[in-house]
Amino acid sequence: MNAQDKKRIGVLGGGQLGRMLSMESRRMGSEITQWTGGENSGAANMASDVLLNAFDDQAGLEAFLQASDVATVEFENIPTQLLESIAEHIPTYPDAKAVGICQNRDHEKTFFKSHGIPTTPFRVATTEAELAAAFEAIPGDVIIKTLQFGYDGKGQLSVSQDEKTEVKKIWAEFQGARVIVEKRIQLQGELSVMIARGADGECITYDPAENIHKDHILDLSIVPARFSPEILAQAQEIGKKIATALEYVGVLGVEFFIDENQSILVNEMACRPHNSGHHTLDACETSQFEQQARVVNHQPLGSPALLKPVVMWNLLGDLWPSSSQEPDWTPVLSTPGATLHLYGKTSAKKKRKMGHVTFVADSVEEALSKAEHCRQAMNWSA
Ligand code: ADP
Ligand code: MG
Repeated sequence: MNAQDKKRIGVLGGGQLGRMLSMESRRMGSEITQWTGGENSGAANMASDVLLNAFDDQAGLEAFLQASDVATVEFENIPTQLLESIAEHIPTYPDAKAVGICQNRDHEKTFFKSHGIPTTPFRVATTEAELAAAFEAIPGDVIIKTLQFGYDGKGQLSVSQDEKTEVKKIWAEFQGARVIVEKRIQLQGELSVMIARGADGECITYDPAENIHKDHILDLSIVPARFSPEILAQAQEIGKKIATALEYVGVLGVEFFIDENQSILVNEMACRPHNSGHHTLDACETSQFEQQARVVNHQPLGSPALLKPVVMWNLLGDLWPSSSQEPDWTPVLSTPGATLHLYGKTSAKKKRKMGHVTFVADSVEEALSKAEHCRQAMNWSA
């Protein structure tokens, strides 16, 4: 490829994942158009161009196709019909089939089961009677989740064994939405793996991240993860198996649970870079976003090697003194090895992801203690 044919990347979605893809791909000489599907929170401001049309707007599609040589996604819930229409004109990675599986918890789990990949026991319910049957079929405590559009724990309800008698009331809470009922796992820990797979089938995996959630939202990611080498190897192997079975092209995130028997179960997957892979910007040879740019540009994949132990802290809007006033970053800025990333969102809200900080150090313990020091100094209680 010579300098004139640098690819113009079109990305569907208006969030921070597109922002960081924009920063990485523009650094490498690509132009990028971010189609937000609605408003711009400010996160899309690093793109070369931003489209605000709704995803079902024909003029939006035409403008997107005009501006792009290749398409990708930074948000899971892109209508698959739109991806199919785009793919009639330009290469689209990942494809509508893979995105369709990732955006529906039933399709996702059924896919895992059919490939012999261990996952949480589940039942789908579309009526009150099916909910009662699912409660019966899955003994003990459960978690109910909407089949689609859930993120950061939204659309989820934890139900203990004793509460299962309240089927009517619980069903009413979901207002007719189709749900999945999952066994509530006695979590010994959570981890995730990022995978990148090229159009030629070349596939790399990053070192797994250990993830600590607070109120169902990712709080900290720790790499290297503090699990046995066998578990880490299994996570990477399963990640590769999923990407290969999907004939996936792009960057894929796979989340895992470790249960009370120290068994590994796949929780869910994301057809795009993932929050638990943000540390790759500061601590790996090639970031997950550069990897996505390389895949869509048909360039060789980069090394995923971890350069230094790292901890990532997610910055939620709860840390902001008000919706428009930023915290004082002095503790972060005066910590050696700490890097602040803000997503440019103009308004802070509780639980909204506003940015993250990575802490690199010579050991995980040291990276964690730097993170803890900053969190305390900024009055963040985990
Ligand atoms: P989201 O799309 O919101 O990330 P997840 O299914 O990953 O949805 O759930 C978010 C978090 O909630 C998980 O990372 C985990 O901490 C907790 N959780 C979800 N499902 C279960 C489960 N079946 N058992 C135990 N904890 C769960
Ligand atoms: Mg999740």
